[in-house]
Amino acid sequence: MTTPQVFRQGTKVVVFANFMEVCLEMHRQPEHVMTFLLAELRTIGSLDKQQRLVVKGRFATINFKVIFQRYMSEYFTCNVCNGTDTILSMEETQLRCEQCGSERFVAAI
Ligand SMILES: [Zn+2]
Repeated sequence: MTTPQVFRQGTKVVVFANFMEVCLEMHRQPEHVMTFLLAELRTIGSLDKQQRLVVKGRFATINFKVIFQRYMSEYFTCNVCNGTDTILSMEETQLRCEQCGSERFVAAI
């Protein structure tokens, strides 16, 4: 997996530079990932011209990464085999693992 590149820009925003790349790699809708991150961080944000996710707030980048990890364990990684070959259903409420075949429900964001 590509490591998220997250850094603070000035004192008011945090930038997730390779956001799109990470979403593509996980095969997740950028809107889904973004909605989760913003809800967890209780802030607002948007994509800039270079498709980087720019989030308002002065939180530490480590917190941002912890929340991203939470997204991965909730909506990406299989909790049975730890596999990453998973599919999120169209309604984004069910996660299916292509490696071990297990399925589980996930919370709507
Ligand atoms: Zn699995």
